[in-house]
Amino acid sequence: MHRGPVAEISLSALSHNFETVKTVVRNRPVIAVVKADAYGHGAIEVSKRLLKEGAAYLAVAFTSEAAVLRNAGISSPIIVLFGRDDIRDFFDLQLIPVIYSIDTARALSREANMRKTAIKVHVKIDTGMGRLGLRDREIKTVSEIPGLAIEGVFSHFSEADLQDRSFANHQLEKFRKTRTYLEKKLKRRLLSHMANSSAVLSCEDAYFDAVRPGIVLYGYSAIQPFSENQDYEGQSKRQRTAKEEVLDPGFRTLSSALMPVMSVKTKILSLRNLPPGTPISYGRTFVTKRKSRIGVIPVGYADGYSRLFSNNAEVLVKGRRVPVVGRVCMDLTMIDVTGVKGVKEGDEVVIIGVQGKEFITADELSGKINAIPYEILTSLGNRSRRIYV
Ligand SMILES: *Cc1c(COP(=O)(O)O)cnc(C)c1O
Repeated sequence: MHRGPVAEISLSALSHNFETVKTVVRNRPVIAVVKADAYGHGAIEVSKRLLKEGAAYLAVAFTSEAAVLRNAGISSPIIVLFGRDDIRDFFDLQLIPVIYSIDTARALSREANMRKTAIKVHVKIDTGMGRLGLRDREIKTVSEIPGLAIEGVFSHFSEADLQDRSFANHQLEKFRKTRTYLEKKLKRRLLSHMANSSAVLSCEDAYFDAVRPGIVLYGYSAIQPFSENQDYEGQSKRQRTAKEEVLDPGFRTLSSALMPVMSVKTKILSLRNLPPGTPISYGRTFVTKRKSRIGVIPVGYADGYSRLFSNNAEVLVKGRRVPVVGRVCMDLTMIDVTGVKGVKEGDEVVIIGVQGKEFITADELSGKINAIPYEILTSLGNRSRRIYV
């Protein structure tokens, strides 16, 4: 038996989300962000599909991720957002480095000079994220370094969900100024890009020449959308409703047009009938109150199913929601299937996805543990066996 759950990746849902983005941004070029193994969905298969759909560029975090794509025969332009060990990889693998430090810019320039070539780069401006990016006075310096063919200029929003626009507007303003300055220095137009997923969904001012979405391609938004079909409870429901009030009118329609790409499934490993008063799992945090039928599933925190889901999440069995009971263990989790008719060992258990009329989303799971859907998708997706459907 293999460890862990199976992540089913729907490439048709991915295509659908890509199409949705293209329509929303009126056919601007899309730089598809496939870092962290495409947010847990598998970068090779996802990239191939997105390129077939017309993605103009791929963006990864590190050169090693780009190398994996090149080895898989992907020849599209690839932007490396964050890091490398060896500067030569950019040249050997024909990757587009992001310039966020003058030192890197100079190292690239030296290497380009040695190879008697110029290297295409995108310049990153820090407009308020305070993470990576050139500061004002470094812009002039970079524009004068030989051997760099500056093709693009970009920045990143610090507000992933853009609920409060005031800082985003400040960042946009700063970005416009800086890129105008850089374009003047270089005496040509550059490819400007700023829009992450939430800007794609809600901020036309940020579209510029290309957009750079990640999470929407996988069917989620950074702003957790309220959905009538979902059974949010108490506080989280109030929060979501409050969030909704500040959203653009079009947002809800748009985000509900997205289709989750990943489902995560497993099977019941063992089923037991237990009398009332039986403690379940480490620490006995759950004790059966009635004659209970308890299922054991072969998924635990080592598989990316957070220990915070202990007594705090549901899964689907036979099209019904059933609770996780007791603590999530390293390799196993217990669920209470009492009253669900006809359950057998080997039956399918859905952790994320649809079963019958019920569904569980990464939004729902993240809402329960103060995480974000990005974290749920990467945790589970990157540790599951993936199949493409
Ligand atoms: C991850 C990332 C994105 C994509 O963000 P989403 O919120 O997933 O759309 C875009 N740009 C940069 C620089 C990133 O690091």
